[in-house]
Amino acid sequence: MGFEGLLGNHRLKDNLRASLSRGRSAHFYLISGAEGSGKHTLARLLSAALMCSGADAPCLRCEACRKVMNNVHPDIITVADPEKKRVPVDLVRQARADIYTKPNEGKKKIYLFPQELGLEGQNALLKILEEPPQYGVFLLLTDNPERLLPTVRSRCVELALRPLENSLLRQELRRQFPDIEEETLTAVCQRSGGYLGQAIAAVSGASEIPQQTVDFVNAFAARDVLALVSVLVGMEKSKRDVLLPLLEQWVSILEEALASRSGGTALSPSAQKLSTARSSADLLSAIREIQKCIQYAQGNVSPAAICGYLQWALR
Ligand SMILES: [Zn+2]
Repeated sequence: MGFEGLLGNHRLKDNLRASLSRGRSAHFYLISGAEGSGKHTLARLLSAALMCSGADAPCLRCEACRKVMNNVHPDIITVADPEKKRVPVDLVRQARADIYTKPNEGKKKIYLFPQELGLEGQNALLKILEEPPQYGVFLLLTDNPERLLPTVRSRCVELALRPLENSLLRQELRRQFPDIEEETLTAVCQRSGGYLGQAIAAVSGASEIPQQTVDFVNAFAARDVLALVSVLVGMEKSKRDVLLPLLEQWVSILEEALASRSGGTALSPSAQKLSTARSSADLLSAIREIQKCIQYAQGNVSPAAICGYLQWALR
């Protein structure tokens, strides 16, 4: 079976297969790539390969492989806190202490870090990086490998995921969404940058839009200043990691609307609505103002101040 479950990325898969078949696995893997590039898929397949007792690992048929693929293997530990943006440092310390307890049944004990590691977390990890037990494996997943300390990054085998070729992406989307229209398919492929996860989210995720975004789109399309103020006032007490994704989503809908005014296809009903209601100049100016606010939010300006600014800037 091998790594066929991961699309594209042939060189990476060949190298990995070759090193594993020679019995050369690493203790630290850095799986890097943009959102939707297949980091979780690769982490799962690599974990299966490291635990596999069959031939051509991961065989995906032996008991160990099946446990990994069903997410029930007792020797795979996910180190993350879904409430936080980064892995809390005490969880890294717990993993560091736990690694010296031998695996239950697996050949390896694998720690999966699906979230970004802060500086403190990386420093805590460095102590294991120096001298891991022979069965210990760490899989770090990241969108931004350059944010890691050089001392951490240099000790990892980096598996960098690449975008898929357009023809492959089209073929896979066609397989998963047999009813998709040709025009939509083309637009999704263009906008997803070659990342399957992003393309799937664009096709299937249009219905999962948060209420604030729905309200923003309606208010901005209708030039309803009071409604706009009311959305933004409601967001003033939001945490930064709630506010940022919302603003990023607004920018991407506005960009889609703008692209559609210059002849592109608006995929989402929100973008369609905006593209008919507002001029290109209006859309562009809103994009610039919101992008400015995204930078403010990243630079620690309070959500209340940002929402206050937008009430004035978007009217
Ligand atoms: Zn197997």
